[in-house]
Amino acid sequence: MLLVLKIAKNFNLCRPEYYYINLQIMKVLKFGGTSVGSIENMNAVMNLITDGEKKLVVLSAMSGTTNALVEIADYLYKKNKDTARSLTSKLKTKYEKVVNGLLKEEARKAEGHHVVETCFDNIRKYISNNFTEAAEKEILAQGELISTALFTQLMQENGYNTKLLPALDFMRIDSDKAADLHAIRTKIKTVFEESGDADYYITQGFICKNADGEIDNLQRGGSDYTASLIGAAIKSDEIQIWTDIDGFHNNDPRFVENTQKIEQLSFNEAAELAYFGAKILHPQTVLPAKIENIPVRLKNTMNPTDGGTLITSETLSEGIKAVAAKDGITAIKIRSSRMLMAYGFLKNVFEIFEFFKTPIDMISTSEVAVSVTIDNTTNLDKIIKELKEYGEVEVDQDQSIICIVGDIIGQEKGFAAKVFNALEGIPIRMISYGGSRYNISILVPTSQKQRTLQALSDNLLNN
Ligand code: ADP
Ligand code: ASP
Ligand code: MG
Repeated sequence: MLLVLKIAKNFNLCRPEYYYINLQIMKVLKFGGTSVGSIENMNAVMNLITDGEKKLVVLSAMSGTTNALVEIADYLYKKNKDTARSLTSKLKTKYEKVVNGLLKEEARKAEGHHVVETCFDNIRKYISNNFTEAAEKEILAQGELISTALFTQLMQENGYNTKLLPALDFMRIDSDKAADLHAIRTKIKTVFEESGDADYYITQGFICKNADGEIDNLQRGGSDYTASLIGAAIKSDEIQIWTDIDGFHNNDPRFVENTQKIEQLSFNEAAELAYFGAKILHPQTVLPAKIENIPVRLKNTMNPTDGGTLITSETLSEGIKAVAAKDGITAIKIRSSRMLMAYGFLKNVFEIFEFFKTPIDMISTSEVAVSVTIDNTTNLDKIIKELKEYGEVEVDQDQSIICIVGDIIGQEKGFAAKVFNALEGIPIRMISYGGSRYNISILVPTSQKQRTLQALSDNLLNN
């Protein structure tokens, strides 16, 4: 519950009088970087989506592209123009080969090269100009602009009635950087009306415009969030997230052996896991789907017949379902300068975090001290300075939150003991239990993360 409230704060909820758009689009499908990461995979996606059912398809940039664009932007911030220039031309060469291999008709190839040329001009103009945050955002947008333009050409060349909808014309965030579902809903209606009828609509994930009308984005991995925001805006029947794995696993397959796919998760469970680090879903993805009660299905582009994982409002089984880990956490302990916590101590502490717009993930208190964790350290120094007015402050960086998720309250007695037994020998810095029916969180040094995740798989999940 705490988590849902927190995300809701970062989400500009639509006004109650909103209307739905009846487009007869049943499904919104999102394909991630690997799914469109090669000519072969783009063709596979085309074959997979062209079943005659009208749909809207959200695409990421080809895998590796956004990382390359981030690298180019980093060099431009450091005023290392030569390296930025050579990385840019290396990336452009890659796309020229993609165009030549992907498209067959000369006119389509010419259009493909024109798209690549335009997008790389958008990058190169900043090599000579002053580099700003807005310039960085524009550079990062080019990956999705290219992948969607080329994929649309591929679809049209193969005779499919396909239209490209520019996400920058309808995806919006507000001045707090929160998705503006009301604006998205209103604008996407106009975009659809102006585009005319098609069987397949393609759009860019990740990118949007902000309250100042500049190009912006929904943060790394944000294409998932685009799909759920659009699904909620047009009230689709289902939102499908197609990726390179067969669904939500019960532990992070990048760090742990023998993870297993989960068939079904509730919105709350999936939201907790995504928020606490399960990379398969952008942290905010679940909320729009939950608000409109739209099922989210996670599917494997490389193995489309597998049913994947279905996320719905139902909690089908009790007990622990999965764990996830979120890195880059800072723990702050404030020991009250009085012997016992004075009335108002916690309020004063929390107001400081609120003032600096810094969300708190975990909290634990004792009679004289409170520990909290944050992941946004932009204002850490200022926060510490203010906190010192109220007591002694201790800071530990490089921590990870390990989040254990399931319908935990429904579980039989002795659940906490099971968790502690599973974690024997691991130094635990903080525990948060009871704040939510669905989650127990523990804080460990990041150096202990892999060991902790593996211990939970071996002793708790795979039994
Ligand atoms: P895409 O580019 O399709 O968005 P991502 O790399 O963002 O794909 O997400 C898929 C990856 O997430 C998987 O390949 C896997 O390594 C990682 N991952 C982390 N935690 C989980 C989990 N609990 N279940 C499934 N995949 C996970
Ligand atoms: N291309 C963006 C990224 O790599 C968005 C996404 O893939 O979801 O972060
Ligand atoms: Mg992703």
